[in-house]
Amino acid sequence: MGVNTVFFIASHTIQLAMLLLWPLSFAWVVVDSGRRIRHRGQRRLALAVAVLPLLGPLLYRAFRPPEYVEDRRLREAQRRALERRETAGSRCPSCRREVRPDFLSCAHCGTRLREPCRSCGEPLDLLWACCPWCETEVESPPAFQPLHPAWAQTPEPSLAAGRAAAPAPERAA
Ligand SMILES: [Zn+2]
Ligand SMILES: [Zn+2]
Repeated sequence: MGVNTVFFIASHTIQLAMLLLWPLSFAWVVVDSGRRIRHRGQRRLALAVAVLPLLGPLLYRAFRPPEYVEDRRLREAQRRALERRETAGSRCPSCRREVRPDFLSCAHCGTRLREPCRSCGEPLDLLWACCPWCETEVESPPAFQPLHPAWAQTPEPSLAAGRAAAPAPERAA
């Protein structure tokens, strides 16, 4: 067997392998891009690139989206579920129904949930000592509460100015 024969067989084997590899690699791109690319135009572009023998599938592999469409959808669903759980965390302490974190009162039973900040008006949790948005100190609730109901009707002018935002009669109830 001469050198020429060996070369002939070798080159033909390589050609045959390439001929087999080409449709196989293209078929792989068809399947893989179907799982990764939803956009029809982008998928067509990927397939057009992948038609190039050998180099095409390599290019596709370098630039393909890193995630499967299914995984991306699952991740999105998990993120949404997490967000829902975070916002659904607040419930009315009285009737246990869901309330939004910015509600001042429960829409179902009217329970007071938050106080508007006397400076910026943001809803503040009743236990907070200071407004997290404008850093205004919250006057402690007991200081507001009139010990005698009559005090609520005739507040001192100096006190009334600072506490006008808070409805005093409601607090007495
Ligand atoms: Zn309620
Ligand atoms: Zn504030």
